[in-house]
Amino acid sequence: MLEAALAALFGLLIGSFLNVCIHRMPRDESIVWPGSRCPSCRHPIAHYDNIPVVSWLLLRARCRHCFTLIHWRYPLMEALTAALFALAVLTWGPTAEALKYMIFSALCAAMFFTDLETRILPDEFTLGGLYAGLALSATIPRKGLLLSILAPSISPPLATLLDSALGAAFGAGLLWLIAKLYSEVRGREGLGFGDIKLVAMLGAFLGLAGAMAAILVGCVLGSVLGLAWIWLRQHTARNYELPLGSFLAMAAVLIAFQGEGLLRWYLRFAP
Ligand SMILES: [Zn+2]
Repeated sequence: MLEAALAALFGLLIGSFLNVCIHRMPRDESIVWPGSRCPSCRHPIAHYDNIPVVSWLLLRARCRHCFTLIHWRYPLMEALTAALFALAVLTWGPTAEALKYMIFSALCAAMFFTDLETRILPDEFTLGGLYAGLALSATIPRKGLLLSILAPSISPPLATLLDSALGAAFGAGLLWLIAKLYSEVRGREGLGFGDIKLVAMLGAFLGLAGAMAAILVGCVLGSVLGLAWIWLRQHTARNYELPLGSFLAMAAVLIAFQGEGLLRWYLRFAP
């Protein structure tokens, strides 16, 4: 429990840093300079006004200087990262595997918001995550891979790395196909390269089976929730650009944390 609480505190800080990334990366601004400032009046934010979640509540969601509303995404991202970090430690214990899923879920949470707010998936997250995922898979082997069963002579780290590379390649290929089909049907570009790079990153962390599951669940979530949103807000579907990356990122975290549970639930409906 203590480990989970510490992970949550750490998550608050990482979430706070990622909030800066979410705002600045799609605008091609530096994430280290200048320090935190109000996006509206550009006044630097004092350290005592920069405490995750707490400051937002104390300031009643307004800038101390210009009183502009501070977006609810700021405390939400901080709380979400804290919850994901705690959940990772509760699921995998204080292990390297938990650390891997902390990195993965934090990247996914950040991309959920950049895609939702700007329809941009920054290369720092997608490509950076792809390399990180491949490097981590070689050092933290996954168990029960089909590859290890088919070819038991391959060492577990190599089998995991191969599975991650396959997940990245096949995931990206499948999404490229979906993007092709989509533009044929709708007569315009719907999915960008960002989504394809995102899926490669998901594959690097989740492997082949996990990447396929994330694409399936992400596309279903995107269709159902996207259509509901269009209907609720009376957007005309023709002009509405679905943040597919947000749904893929959400699905990937679900698969990473609850993949086996989801599979069991699904199989209950199988004959
Ligand atoms: Zn301000």
